[in-house]
Amino acid sequence: MLVRNKNIGNLKAGYLFPEIAKRRRDFLAKHPEAKIISLGIGNTTEPITPHIDAGLVEGARRLATKEGYTGYGDEQGMTALRERIAQVFYNSLKGCRTISADEVFISDGAKCDIGRLQLLFGSSVPVAVQDPSYPVYVDGSVLIGAAGPWNGTGYEGISYLPCNAENNYFPDLAKLPKNSLVYFCSPNNPTGAVATKDQLTALVKAVQESGSILIFDAAYAEYIRSPELPKSIFQIPGAETCAIEVNSFSKPIGFTGVRLGWTIVPKTLVYDGGESVNADWNRICTTVFNGASNIAQYGGLAALDPEGLKEMQQLTDYYLENARLIRSTLQNLGISCVGGDNAPYIWAQFPGRTSWDVFEKILETCWVVTTPGSGFGPAGESFIRFSAFGHREDIEEACQRLSRLTL
Ligand code: PLP
Repeated sequence: MLVRNKNIGNLKAGYLFPEIAKRRRDFLAKHPEAKIISLGIGNTTEPITPHIDAGLVEGARRLATKEGYTGYGDEQGMTALRERIAQVFYNSLKGCRTISADEVFISDGAKCDIGRLQLLFGSSVPVAVQDPSYPVYVDGSVLIGAAGPWNGTGYEGISYLPCNAENNYFPDLAKLPKNSLVYFCSPNNPTGAVATKDQLTALVKAVQESGSILIFDAAYAEYIRSPELPKSIFQIPGAETCAIEVNSFSKPIGFTGVRLGWTIVPKTLVYDGGESVNADWNRICTTVFNGASNIAQYGGLAALDPEGLKEMQQLTDYYLENARLIRSTLQNLGISCVGGDNAPYIWAQFPGRTSWDVFEKILETCWVVTTPGSGFGPAGESFIRFSAFGHREDIEEACQRLSRLTL
């Protein structure tokens, strides 16, 4: 009999969101009358906006015509979209290193690219992550064999860099392992913290000095409203020789189900032996990926013209207003929290309590589902993540219920 890939066996059972779903089901089985509101997952809720929707519809209509039909496209994505992303998200950004279209690789989403990127580095690379962090960095590392097994508090092979109130949610860079793959997410999921220009400058320097490569996840960049905060790692000098950036249309325009993202791999980024990472990424994309949906790419193009960008701003403003409502409700209760001002997540601390304990309390007394911070890494213990993705009426109702919370 064929044996199982031992890396899969190394994955800790009970991925966070299935466990939350199970507890919600169990609660409803006991309290069928409960009208539960979810502030738990990072899934978008608002409809796709009219101009961007028209782009998708137009993309689909083209496929039904002899002149407009296209089959497989370039694995790297449509040239027009690659150029537009370079222009809108990078070349018009203050202080950003110029990005050329052949450094932009269109994907079916940031999560999928985070998984595929591991193929560049294989199974023997040390990995460093912010703790807490988006689970895919760690789980993807386990799947490829770069990390694992689970040792009770974390995976072997992963350096967990705690980010907490004491260090202002920015890790101690002296702890970066040498020659490693460093994952960094800003605006951060789950903490909502956004790294400043000085912090990112220090990060790039530390990554360079340790001979490492940075995978910078900017999936929430379009939620940044403070003009001094960088939206891209390529606004930091030197990043072009040590960083890859993954990004997504999911959270800025609600393409979570449509599936569209991109990854920037600078041509100036090389391995220890001088080989081009951009050329290898191109090879991987043409081997195990067949390009993003052509319909989705037409939607992406519509999102990047002036009307689409206006809609993107309105949609992200809507979720940011939700975040403001949640944050002020929690603060009125005297709960200390970060995030929510340049990110759609609020990270609330409940000293002396476990995350699951607070999760249960909020579920039982407010009928609100949240996300236990401990699910994002050891340093997330005693925190709860509140997501601002929801209809306004649900957010208002959830805030009313939360305002009566006693712990
Ligand atoms: N990166 C972060 C930090 C996320 O929170 C998410 C989704 O929640 C993703 C990437 C996934 O994005 P996509 O929908 O493009 O796969």
